[in-house]
Amino acid sequence: MDMYHNPNGTFYFKNLLVAYHGGGYDGCFWEWNYFSYDKYGKFHNILTTGRNGIKTESEAMNTVLNPVDGTHVYDLMDPAQVNDFQENHNDGQVVAIVEALNTDKYGEYDGDIYFECQKCHEKVDHGPFDPISIGGQLTVQTERRLCEDCYYTVQCSYCGEDDDDCDKHDGLCDYCWGKKIKYILSSFSDEDVRILSYDPATNQYQTEEPDLSDITFDYYLVQADLRGEFHYRYYIVDAASEKEAMNDVDNFLSHKALLKAWTLREGLEEIGKWVDDMNFREAA
Ligand SMILES: [Zn+2]
Ligand SMILES: [Zn+2]
Repeated sequence: MDMYHNPNGTFYFKNLLVAYHGGGYDGCFWEWNYFSYDKYGKFHNILTTGRNGIKTESEAMNTVLNPVDGTHVYDLMDPAQVNDFQENHNDGQVVAIVEALNTDKYGEYDGDIYFECQKCHEKVDHGPFDPISIGGQLTVQTERRLCEDCYYTVQCSYCGEDDDDCDKHDGLCDYCWGKKIKYILSSFSDEDVRILSYDPATNQYQTEEPDLSDITFDYYLVQADLRGEFHYRYYIVDAASEKEAMNDVDNFLSHKALLKAWTLREGLEEIGKWVDDMNFREAA
């Protein structure tokens, strides 16, 4: 690590983040503690806990100059070391430390202090929540190293559960999505609605009731107008395109119907079955 000489001839550190084993209340358990040196070499004791937590600047200096096992010194201006910092520590703490360093409480640095969002890989200076009072105690508000936008793609907008598939399900987790789809399907009255799938074992199409939560917006909705009847039938199909979905239904019905196809979302909107409210909570 670099040491810098100020005009008085004494050395100082700058743009450094130091993580070490602090804590240690009863027995031997430890936890990560952190301090930093800003661009002027000013010391900031960000998080210090227990009897192993550093109290003074000279203890900090000693920790940097004589590091013991478990002490990490990161140059915040070196992307490789910032990366090490992200890898070595709990995601929630990484977000909280970056947020803390970006408040004016812990000095200024020569460059941006950031973490990299695990989903979109953008370099950002805060997570989904505004940092709250950090004085001495680091406030971890999220367990995930995600930017604000990505956070809400992995967080169910209805029940708040973590689920990486939320963006496929209109912001809902698997469970809530399954409930919502069930609710929508239950609103079909005169019309039949079926899930159509192809079984390679028998080389045949079949209609079935699969796990509804498997259905995503990648599915298609095909409307079949059976000649001579006064109502439509709807098929939900897992296919690669509207055309393919239509072909599947056409084969299944032995070419006896007029067909229309949409993506599932567009189709449900088109036929007035999409519900934007959260009424699906009443569904079984
Ligand atoms: Zn992101
Ligand atoms: Zn949910």
